[in-house]
Amino acid sequence: MKYISTRGAAPILGFGEAMMTGLARDGGLYVPETIPTMSYDEIAALAGLSYEEIAFRVMRPYLGDTFGDDEFRGLLTAAYKPFGHLARAPLVQLGPNHFLLELFHGPTLAFKDFAMQLIGQMMQAALAKTGERITIVGATSGDTGSAAMEAFRGLANVDLFILYPHGRVSDVQRRQMTTATEANVHAFAMDGDFDDCQARVKDMFNDFAFRDGVRLAGVNSINWARVLAQVVYYFSSAVSLGAPHRAVSFTVPTGNFGDIFAGYIARKMGLPIEKLVIATNHNDILHRAITSGDYQTHGVTPSMSPSMDIQVSSNFERALFDAYGRDGKAVAQLMDELKSGGFHISQGALESLRATFASGRCSEEETTATINREYVRTGEVLCPHSAVGVKVANDYLGSTPMITLATAHPAKFPDAVLDAIGQRPELPARLADLFDRRERLTRVPNDLGRLQSLIRERIAS
Ligand SMILES: *Cc1c(COP(=O)(O)O)cnc(C)c1O
Repeated sequence: MKYISTRGAAPILGFGEAMMTGLARDGGLYVPETIPTMSYDEIAALAGLSYEEIAFRVMRPYLGDTFGDDEFRGLLTAAYKPFGHLARAPLVQLGPNHFLLELFHGPTLAFKDFAMQLIGQMMQAALAKTGERITIVGATSGDTGSAAMEAFRGLANVDLFILYPHGRVSDVQRRQMTTATEANVHAFAMDGDFDDCQARVKDMFNDFAFRDGVRLAGVNSINWARVLAQVVYYFSSAVSLGAPHRAVSFTVPTGNFGDIFAGYIARKMGLPIEKLVIATNHNDILHRAITSGDYQTHGVTPSMSPSMDIQVSSNFERALFDAYGRDGKAVAQLMDELKSGGFHISQGALESLRATFASGRCSEEETTATINREYVRTGEVLCPHSAVGVKVANDYLGSTPMITLATAHPAKFPDAVLDAIGQRPELPARLADLFDRRERLTRVPNDLGRLQSLIRERIAS
């Protein structure tokens, strides 16, 4: 399996290299050269298997010879063992044809654990073979950072630096990043918003001297291995509801477009997915893009679903690459236009996107009302991100079963939930002492040079 860049001008890599590289050297994102498909019978045979076995069968064709079969099975077992639910990604029913896929039973209570726990295991295994040491720098709007801290703390060959926007993540998210005691993980509270953090990380990848000097690797959702790990729960949930014998649809609370792009890959692999519905909060660039064809940045307005407070949705580039007939030059041109505020999606590309994706937007008031309404109707307590999904999904309910992704545990966003239902959701027992742990963080300016010298100092010491 070979991986190519969405901008068509970076080296072609194997799976292991693409995982370690993150962002391609031409600024693009790695995608498989061809998408392997699963036959009707192969998909039907997934019914009733463990999550780990489904993961093995879905992911195996993408890995090339990076890991042996037994080795990969071992990595999957280790990755999902810390989860607080045997099914890993259980489904619950909200209404006659509406299901909620609970993706928050991992160690940091958000869906990011599915990919991060596995990528931690895979990177560790790959580095152990070469004896190499790498530096991972990641930007987070909250959940990626905590999941990465959890997955990488204490690993022998990795230094991890997480940049999060100071004052813009929830207390639980911040504490999950700042209370790790291991010396190889570092939380940087940066001045600015998530897009600033993400931009500085991209700058570091585009500074080849720095990139090669510290052996920079990325674990943001642009990393192909993360997208791939998320493909699995589209299969496990759809098969539970009768796929491939009947089709399903998904609604996905979306920020950086990574999670929903995994659904797009599942669909290309042959899983019968009718529609993938993009659900945004009031930072609605993707909803506007799908409805009007205009992809225009408007700046970020903070919301109660901070993990989706994003304007430049990195993984959307992968969908554009396919929509433009895999023309890397055309994608590079669009990304150039984006630097000055935005671009218009061509009619052909827009029609191709609309064949797979629908979209909707949820205001702050609607988010609160949805948390309240679902609690009253079903007893299910939603986090604000999941509530955005449920609200948008409600507009698309029909004869096809709808699966809405619940992306975080409500206790990660207690204030929004308290406001909506008058009760504070409790942290699961394994995190009950989070507020007693000591915090360790570094305040940093939004300044590339300063960040780079701090990172160099820390890894030298
Ligand atoms: C990261 C995150 C999202 C957005 O996921 P993307 O892959 O960036 O679209 C939604 N909800 C929660 C809770 C998240 O942590």
